[in-house]
Amino acid sequence: MARTAVLGLPRVGPDRELKFALEAFWAGRIGTEELHDTARELRRSNWERAAGIDVIPSSDFSFYDHVLDTAHGLGVVDGDYFAHARGTATRPPLEMTKWFDTNYHYLVPELRAEQAFTLHPEHWIGPLEEAAALGIKTRPVVLGPYSFLSLAKGAKPELHALIPVYTQLLHELAQAGATEVQLDEPCLALDGVPAAYAEVFAELNAAPIDIALATYFAPADPLVFTLPAAEIHLDLVRAPEQLAPALEAVQGRLSLGVIDGRNVWAADLDLALDRIDAAVAALGSERVTIAPSCSLLHVPYSAARETNIDPEIRPWLAFADEKLQELTTLKAALHGDRDTLLEPARDISSARRTSTLTNDPAVRSRAGALTAADYERDTRFPERHAAQRARTPLPELPTTTIGSFPQTPEIRAARRELRGEAYERFMRGQIAEVISHQEAVGLDVLVHGEPERNDMVEYFGERLSGFVFSQFGWVQSYGSRCVKPPILYGDVSRPAPMTVRWWQHAQSLTVKPVKGMLTGPVTILQWSFVRDDQPRAETCTQIALAIQDEVRDLEAAGCFAIQVDEAALREGLPLRRAEQDSYVRWAVDAFRLTVAAARADTQVHTHMCYSEFNEMMEHIVRLDADVLSIEASRSDMEVLDAFAAGLEYPNEIGPGIYDIHSPRIPSTDELERLLELAERRIPRERLWANPDCGLKTRGWNEVRPALTNLVAAARRRRAAVRV
Ligand code: GLN
Ligand code: ZN
Repeated sequence: MARTAVLGLPRVGPDRELKFALEAFWAGRIGTEELHDTARELRRSNWERAAGIDVIPSSDFSFYDHVLDTAHGLGVVDGDYFAHARGTATRPPLEMTKWFDTNYHYLVPELRAEQAFTLHPEHWIGPLEEAAALGIKTRPVVLGPYSFLSLAKGAKPELHALIPVYTQLLHELAQAGATEVQLDEPCLALDGVPAAYAEVFAELNAAPIDIALATYFAPADPLVFTLPAAEIHLDLVRAPEQLAPALEAVQGRLSLGVIDGRNVWAADLDLALDRIDAAVAALGSERVTIAPSCSLLHVPYSAARETNIDPEIRPWLAFADEKLQELTTLKAALHGDRDTLLEPARDISSARRTSTLTNDPAVRSRAGALTAADYERDTRFPERHAAQRARTPLPELPTTTIGSFPQTPEIRAARRELRGEAYERFMRGQIAEVISHQEAVGLDVLVHGEPERNDMVEYFGERLSGFVFSQFGWVQSYGSRCVKPPILYGDVSRPAPMTVRWWQHAQSLTVKPVKGMLTGPVTILQWSFVRDDQPRAETCTQIALAIQDEVRDLEAAGCFAIQVDEAALREGLPLRRAEQDSYVRWAVDAFRLTVAAARADTQVHTHMCYSEFNEMMEHIVRLDADVLSIEASRSDMEVLDAFAAGLEYPNEIGPGIYDIHSPRIPSTDELERLLELAERRIPRERLWANPDCGLKTRGWNEVRPALTNLVAAARRRRAAVRV
């Protein structure tokens, strides 16, 4: 008979119990004992949730991050676990980076030359035995050697160097009673898998335990199908096309990732069953496992709790609990009366498909009528530049900021507690303070400071139609940090202006230009749970049109400079090179569509908080923003080499010279030096002076002197001889 399996479960707790326990522990309010009690309880309740599933994971739980757990278990970092995650007075934390294309961040292990690997198996053995003591048989989850090495940095050894320590782990797991282990090798679904992996796998496979080799997020390298694994897991949501070739090649069991582990929608169970039927026909049901596409770490716990969501929409949702239920239904349907078993799911699918909530004819006809001209500004940059300077003269090296100013506890409390008149009065007061501060410092292009925004995506999601917000829909971002992504369920439009009155108030207080501040369509898409019933590109076009309405209204209100932030443009890049081009094309188009309606004398800004532009350069040029601000200070302006070399960047650039991710206050000398370094690469006429990113996480005691120094540095450079 086919079996069901789950690769991993959410782990922060349905009410973020782990987050609160960790923070209490770090603050010294609770001790190790209590922290471990919380963890044990979370593991127990997860196993209970998954009780109806045939194969239940263990060691998917983590106190902070599973890559750090692996680094510790292999002896790459010592036992001072949280010191590696959070740093100490004398030691910086490990670098943190995105886990593939998810919003989860892992800690990057740093390998030393001649790195030794020694096994500390408690992370895997502990939970295995803990579950066994509760009478629950589990399948331990182990991050495999190829992925571990690919995700690490530093002096990387040959893959073979990891075989002994992994072999020892597999033996110890077998001794501790495990009959099967889930070896996660997501990097086998990226480009560039070496043929030598086959030998490494064969050596590991000699251990007396069944290996279920798991890939996800992209199509597995075809090499994977040929490996003699007891089971191979494939992500058939992201890459259904790999099913047919896999069925011809696999020797053991095939685990079909048919339930979307990355999104929150109830599945089309008929579609899933088509795939399962094909596998059963080819392999026999004994060799088929039914599973989510990847670990359920990336979805919240339970949609059933979301009683505030529109009752028409709520049944369309499936969080972890509901996905487990779907697996059980699929297995039952394989052998039982399909029509009866699937009827509820079919009803939900068809209700969603035909709902007026997901089909807004006005939005559809507007998007359908778009032509190439809608993606182009009327004039080219040189004429726009002249028109903009004529309208609003600016000095050389104009100074500005990225948008947000310190979000004090007072501001957060006001957003939570104040309503109506009192809220309005408070926010206007905050804006006035931010404006007068910027005038005092002497900045050239001001901002209103974003006090009304908790989050750059949530703020817009709440004001656009097509979104709902969960109450408990938290997912882990890193360590104790969680995010609650908006849920984009339907056609997107903008019922009313979202930012105009705040901007108007700010502009009424100063004669200097105040930038309008918007979040771009790709970033809104990327940081939300997005409908899966149409291509992402189509959804992105709808968001672009909604934000375009705001651009038009800001412009009509007299706004000279409008910034459309695309913080997440790069992270949306598909994992496989073959798919990257088409993504970048539609993503850049969405930005162009958002701002194309702006007049020539309206200055369009964009901001991106990262610095890897090398392979993206032609696309960045195609954005055609008048001014682009980027992260640069930590690389000593080296990122500008990409803008100066070969395909020279033609428009204005503001390389961030103040690193806002650090509490350090840069001196005027240091900022001046960075500007000079920038000028060596980009002519002064096209340079701006600004911080790396928004100032919301910094305190006023840092921001005040840092911006004073930034303005002083720009003034010094203006007086200096050109390089
Ligand atoms: N305008 C936003 C801010 O200043 C941009 C944030 C971001 O790019 N992450 O906070
Ligand atoms: Zn940023």
